[in-house]
Amino acid sequence: MEKLFFYFLENMALIIALMFLGLKAKEVLLQKFEKLFSSFWVYPLFVTILTLIVMYNPLGYEGMKIDLRAVPLFFVAYAGGWRLGILSGIIPLIFRVYLGGPTVLIGIIQTIILPICFGAFFKHKQKDTHHPILNLSKMMFYFIIFEIIQSVWMYFSTEATVLITVLVFIFACIAAWSMGLIFNDVHRSLNMINQLEMLSYQDAMTLLPNIRYFKEKLLKMAEQKDPFAIAMIDVDYFKKYNDANGHPKGDVVLRTIGNILSDSCGAGDFVARYGGEEFIMCFQKNSLQQVSDITERLRKSVEVYIFEGEETQPGGFLTISIGVSFSKPEKSMEAIIEEADKALYQSKRNGRNRVTIYKEG
Ligand code: GH3
Ligand code: MG
Ligand code: MG
Repeated sequence: MEKLFFYFLENMALIIALMFLGLKAKEVLLQKFEKLFSSFWVYPLFVTILTLIVMYNPLGYEGMKIDLRAVPLFFVAYAGGWRLGILSGIIPLIFRVYLGGPTVLIGIIQTIILPICFGAFFKHKQKDTHHPILNLSKMMFYFIIFEIIQSVWMYFSTEATVLITVLVFIFACIAAWSMGLIFNDVHRSLNMINQLEMLSYQDAMTLLPNIRYFKEKLLKMAEQKDPFAIAMIDVDYFKKYNDANGHPKGDVVLRTIGNILSDSCGAGDFVARYGGEEFIMCFQKNSLQQVSDITERLRKSVEVYIFEGEETQPGGFLTISIGVSFSKPEKSMEAIIEEADKALYQSKRNGRNRVTIYKEG
């Protein structure tokens, strides 16, 4: 009794320890090796290794090889579905054949094929979080049903005693539950890091990227020597609009303009809220004609858009002014932004609601 108890306790502890190490490694290394963790073979490989270690020193009883291998196989299929489940089961299956004995076939069906099928069939439905969080009560409900079927089947089809069956049942349940706890814990912290990162790059009011994000992205582009154009965009007479319609309506205008700008971004283009009622855009193009056409279209889109309360604006419409500057290898990012700002100032001086392209000298 004591020997059996400690055998299954050790098997369970092994699963928990390896799961903990594996997921902590993911948490620590994910940022550096993002590609590795997004490739489909990493998880089956990890579960295969975990399962093989669990199977390495099985309890030999009347020719049977008993261990808790069903737990990781059920878990990977439940969390990841058919493909990950099947891929994770192939080598453990071959290993079980290699171990031999009179219960090879029944052992494979009950502790490799059945848990994978059960897990994948009731697979956790992923919501839209990047790192899924499992509903553990639901998972344990399916796992316990699986364990009851497997235990009853094992008891009647093999020489396993009641004691062995009960011990397998208890320790398998604790191991599965622990795997779920560790999985959720690490995924919660990864989701939190993602969310914090997103928030630190986002303008809370317009939900556009903020200037910090913009500059980091622009620096990367400049390092790669990709040519680009910068447009600075400022709402005309916005103080008047706020005074006439109130700040909350002004916020709606800024959000609407933000949407118009981001909708007009082509491949490689990006936009950010620069601050106040100013926006900044980067076009991954350096053809004067192309950028003039796009920015002119933008100016027109805002002019024709019907904003609530815009009739009190000078001219009767709410409009924007734009200044554009083009990159050159010898110009710094800050210098290009400054030039776009000067061009914007020219647009304002020349009467607003217009696009000015910066000219040197
Ligand atoms: P100009 O055509 O010269 O740009 O005139 P303007 O009135 O737009 O420029 P000014 O710099 O005098 O005023 C900018 C206004 O933008 C003042 C400020 O209250 C408003 N503003 C800045 N940020 C926000 C915001 O987040 N929400 C709202 N509603 N208004 C804002
Ligand atoms: Mg301004
Ligand atoms: Mg303004």
